[in-house]
Amino acid sequence: MRLKTVIRQLCNFKGFIITGCRICKQEKGIFTFEARKGSRGICSGCGKKFPSYDRLPVRFFEFIPFWGLKCFFEYSMRRVNCSSCGIKVEKVPWGDGKNNITIHFRWFLADWAKLLSWKTVAERYRTCWDTVRRAVEFAVSYGLEHRSPDGVDAIGVDEIQWKKGHKYLTVVYQLNGSARRLLWVGRDRTIKSFNSFFDEMEKAQNGFCHGIRFLCSDMWKAYIKVAAKRLPGVIHILDRFHIMQKFSKAIDKIRAEEARKLRKEGTPPVLKHSRWCFLKRPSNLTDKERFKLKDLLKMNIGVIRAYLLKEQFQLFWEYKSPPWARKFLDTWCDKANRSRLQPMKDISMMLQRHRDLILNWFKAKKQYNSGIVEGLNYKINTMVRKAFGYRSYEVIETALYHQLGDLPEPQFEHQFW
Ligand SMILES: [Zn+2]
Repeated sequence: MRLKTVIRQLCNFKGFIITGCRICKQEKGIFTFEARKGSRGICSGCGKKFPSYDRLPVRFFEFIPFWGLKCFFEYSMRRVNCSSCGIKVEKVPWGDGKNNITIHFRWFLADWAKLLSWKTVAERYRTCWDTVRRAVEFAVSYGLEHRSPDGVDAIGVDEIQWKKGHKYLTVVYQLNGSARRLLWVGRDRTIKSFNSFFDEMEKAQNGFCHGIRFLCSDMWKAYIKVAAKRLPGVIHILDRFHIMQKFSKAIDKIRAEEARKLRKEGTPPVLKHSRWCFLKRPSNLTDKERFKLKDLLKMNIGVIRAYLLKEQFQLFWEYKSPPWARKFLDTWCDKANRSRLQPMKDISMMLQRHRDLILNWFKAKKQYNSGIVEGLNYKINTMVRKAFGYRSYEVIETALYHQLGDLPEPQFEHQFW
């Protein structure tokens, strides 16, 4: 089978024929394309066919490499005389505009970039990092244009730190149904950021906000404010994952402080290597950690008291009826207030302040699973950390949509990847 037969059979390039193919210095494969005799070119402005006007110098379009050969299509573009657009360069099925990378190669790179780092993809397919970046950008902009925000009825919003020095992103994801995807990424975590999400979605689909029944968020003020205004009838939930995250932070603070104090007093370092004993759920502890925790629990120190308060609070999530949950919450807060531990008192205050939104968890409990929030938050954080090297906001935005947006892709006659 000849190489050009392979290409001809895999791609539907109607109106064009491959007249030759050659290998250059053992590193490049070049396929020469010509327009079929008598065929008319397609105007790149309006998509209609018109007679040729003239021909431009030969151009090379990079195609998917194979067997260690970089591959190129060689073709001299026609200009057509369009009755409405004037003299226009024709549209070819493998490329668009001034881009010298074929559409096939771009989708090919973008697809690999979901599995491997952009750098590795570039090295593997004999191209540069920036070509991979542009390929991913191309895939993302196609996907965003062709996706439908239909059927979104539960969303979650989160703030993610992407750079040192209080650089944050706002991310919004869809939580309902089978489509758990990233819907939107924006700069900062301000009122303006969250508002732009609603503006953009409403623009894409009229009545987007009316379709939403649940919103999950953490306690960030800007989000709570915007949500109250834009989604008035919606059940707003401060979810379990974000609240328990606050507990972990508080315990970590108490432990670090106490360890420092004990060290100063010259007491044996009982708290050394104890961090994960307090942060993990008891069922996730290793044997070693379990024994260590058992020993520590006999001591009357602040971090132990805080730990026990946290474990007690886990019971809160087991309640079924909101009034009983509320009662439990109040009792717990009383206890925390008497604990003489400032970080725990802070949590108690926070819980009281947001009591209604927290109790909404019970209203929505049966209808969606908060593990999803945790899962997506974890995925985004890992990705952002990996992408720290990129530095530029645009790159992170593209990478997040690409990995987590579940964006649609076009159908090709042959799937090259
Ligand atoms: Zn035209």
